[in-house]
Amino acid sequence: MIRSSLHGTPAIPGGWMLPTKYKMLLVSLLSWSTAWSQPPGRFIPPMDHAIDLSGNFMEPRGDHFHSGLDIRTGGREGLPVKAVADGWVSRIKISPWGYGKAVYIDHADGYTSVYAHLQVLQGPVAKVCLDAQYRQKDFSIDFVPEKGAVPVKQGQVIALSGNTGGSGGPHLHFELRRTADQHALDPEALGVEVPDKVKPEMIGVRLYPLNDSSAVGPYPAKAKGFATEGGDGKYKLKGDAVPLAYGTVGLALHTLDRYDGLAAKCGVRRIELFVDSVPTFSVLFDEIDFNTTRYCNAHMDYALFKGSKMEYHRCYKQPNDKLRIYGKEVAQGHISLAPGQVRRARFKVTDANGNVSELSFNLKGATAAEAAKWVSPEPVGSLFRYDTENILKEEGVTLTVPAMALYDDAYVRYERRPAPARAVAPLHVLHEPLTPLHVSATLRIEVPELPEAVQHKALVVRLNDGGGTKAEGGSFANGAITANVRSFGRYTVMVDTVAPVITNVDLKADMKGRSRFTLKVSDDLSGVDKWKGTTDGAWVLMEYEPKTKTLMHTFDKYTDVSGSKMFKLEVTDERGNTARYELKFTR
Ligand SMILES: [Zn+2]
Repeated sequence: MIRSSLHGTPAIPGGWMLPTKYKMLLVSLLSWSTAWSQPPGRFIPPMDHAIDLSGNFMEPRGDHFHSGLDIRTGGREGLPVKAVADGWVSRIKISPWGYGKAVYIDHADGYTSVYAHLQVLQGPVAKVCLDAQYRQKDFSIDFVPEKGAVPVKQGQVIALSGNTGGSGGPHLHFELRRTADQHALDPEALGVEVPDKVKPEMIGVRLYPLNDSSAVGPYPAKAKGFATEGGDGKYKLKGDAVPLAYGTVGLALHTLDRYDGLAAKCGVRRIELFVDSVPTFSVLFDEIDFNTTRYCNAHMDYALFKGSKMEYHRCYKQPNDKLRIYGKEVAQGHISLAPGQVRRARFKVTDANGNVSELSFNLKGATAAEAAKWVSPEPVGSLFRYDTENILKEEGVTLTVPAMALYDDAYVRYERRPAPARAVAPLHVLHEPLTPLHVSATLRIEVPELPEAVQHKALVVRLNDGGGTKAEGGSFANGAITANVRSFGRYTVMVDTVAPVITNVDLKADMKGRSRFTLKVSDDLSGVDKWKGTTDGAWVLMEYEPKTKTLMHTFDKYTDVSGSKMFKLEVTDERGNTARYELKFTR
């Protein structure tokens, strides 16, 4: 274990939240003092059917806390999505990635509602979106209508639900934000009701040494933690296990929550840790600042979350964790154990609807002699301090990791392997992806023999576990290519001189009576970057859906004109290779 340098962090924790009852009072006072017309709780559900969640507010996801409710749509797209209150459209963001097609509505009382992964917008919202896309000649827009220009009424259908952007199946992502700072808030705390009498599940406990001299005993049966037993709100460690540790340790709790009759694993609202009845650590999941949500990777045991799908919430702060969701308990989760000392730990977990579960167990301090028997593998690699810049320099490769990119000190390994198929550089194994990076590192890979003619076609490529590739781009200069990467992993260099492939699906010479047409586009390496469709030279909206690798045009007020037309399509990949397609059709 590496010294966590917690002594070097400020004495005041990164943040502290008011207890809920005071916060409610504060909100009420604000409400009265600013004459907000309605209290929280007057939002109607955004969809007609009973809410079936596949995700709730602030459940941990890769690289962020989930910022809203994921409402299942029974595997279907095209269900009506309704404005949850009167207001006006404040933003329309359309992208093949992220939220896909998303509508933001501002409400007079200081809240913004957000509806994402939409299939198609409806009514006046659709009209202003289409006009903005044709004005900007771009499918991807981030359009802010003037305040009040696009009013909406509570219950008005603003869109049909879909699966656009970074969505893994048809659903509506619904979010409520405080308009002023765009922080996401829990829709369930603002009156969107989801039936929930189910108490949180408490699945396992892990211990972490928090300084150089501390150590934790081995887990039973090679498990990654101490499993629990029990249920319905009362848990203990399996077989009444008593974890042994030496020195100062921290704990993490594997916990999650479910709703009445729903299968999805969701997140809890609050975790509190008491040691010998003294509040020792707490975390409250009630507000997301999008600028810091990536510190989710510091809060969770990232390696177990990413590698083993276990939701271990750390109940101590890693040195570089800037989340403002933690309580101000003096101990900040640091538990010291004298040899032979037994201390009583108690976790209390509360869900969004006030259902509570508890887990109590004893911790025991080991003697130095006992601790000496716990063999831990010697660290391999170079020690990277989290609070300084670190440079890994090996033959043919340089990785520069800026200060505060790591959440804690880490030993970083390197290995060089032969070039994989198609690569023009060796495979550089830069540590391993289960150690998270908060910000990008700069990766420079030398390719001295690369012919000048293809240097601008070279790109940094990351190899996935499954053998696939992820293009990381980069720019070539002085015999090397340099790219920003946000993950450790296996990197090399490949060359992309091959244009994307365009395949016509259902564009025909006779398009009379048809409402849309689709073409397939694929690229072998660097990925589709730009596309441009025209009829008789005029720009037409082509909607790109990376998941189905399709470009689609739906005839609209700009293109639904009868007569003979020449359709042309150009698709360019990220390294500037362009494919072209054209077909004459009659409308
Ligand atoms: Zn979502």
